[in-house]
Amino acid sequence: MKAETILTAELEYESQSLLGEGPVWDARARRLIWVDIEGFAVHLYDPVARDHGAINVGQFVGSLAVRKSGGLVLALKSGFATLDPETGEITPIADAESHLPDNRFNDGKCDPAGRFWAGTLALDEDNGAGKGNLYCLGADHRVELKIPGVWISNGLAWTEDERTMYYIDSPAQKVVAYDYDKASGEIANPRTVITVPASEMGYPDGMTIDEEGMLWIAHWDGGHVCRWNPRTGEEMAEIKVPVSRPTSCVFGGEDFGTLYITSARTRLSAEKLAAEPLAGSVFKCRPGVRGLPMREFAG
Ligand code: CA
Repeated sequence: MKAETILTAELEYESQSLLGEGPVWDARARRLIWVDIEGFAVHLYDPVARDHGAINVGQFVGSLAVRKSGGLVLALKSGFATLDPETGEITPIADAESHLPDNRFNDGKCDPAGRFWAGTLALDEDNGAGKGNLYCLGADHRVELKIPGVWISNGLAWTEDERTMYYIDSPAQKVVAYDYDKASGEIANPRTVITVPASEMGYPDGMTIDEEGMLWIAHWDGGHVCRWNPRTGEEMAEIKVPVSRPTSCVFGGEDFGTLYITSARTRLSAEKLAAEPLAGSVFKCRPGVRGLPMREFAG
């Protein structure tokens, strides 16, 4: 499959993030926030002032979201927690997997009702088939198991009409759509809408959705972010990234027209790292389409 439109991403912020992931555009503070899962860090970056800061959270941090009431919600190794980025104070909310010490949280995002969804994987990823789970943290701080038995829980997105959820379990090489009920948070009727050819394109990782309902998916070990049409399953555009492991992306900036892309340097060989010294950095591209504002956590 060949995309018709080929674009190129440029460097936005040079970082040595081991596993840069989960970018969030904080529209109120006009800043990009991302996690370094294996570097135990939350990064905060103002792309206009070029002002960067990082908070060490002392453990794996899989993903985060902005809270409506202020601060951030995190999916930590020890479970869901809030973080006050001014003081660095972490307050635990709930630990969904206290019985699974060999798992950690991975990608997460808020749904249209302001619930925070985040999934897990086994620390021993290669032997982790079926060991991960997708959870949903409600505004009332109760945790619900949504999809059990996944492998590497990754990208999430909801359509603008708030009726469909998209989900990626990376080793399955596909995007699955679910009917989504905003009032109850229930999902139903899973069906495959995109299949990513293995080996050619790497693994589908994090994703975001644009104003036309198309999905932008980072291809781990593919060296690109691709725009996919979930209605036809076709690849529409490709952004070349100067690193092999882009991990996720989000639209931000004043007009939501800049796609920010995170990346990883973890487990790359010395030869690979020499060939891609920017691995772990944040890249950007203006593909000519806008994203949607991210939902905030209501709890
Ligand atoms: Ca990921």
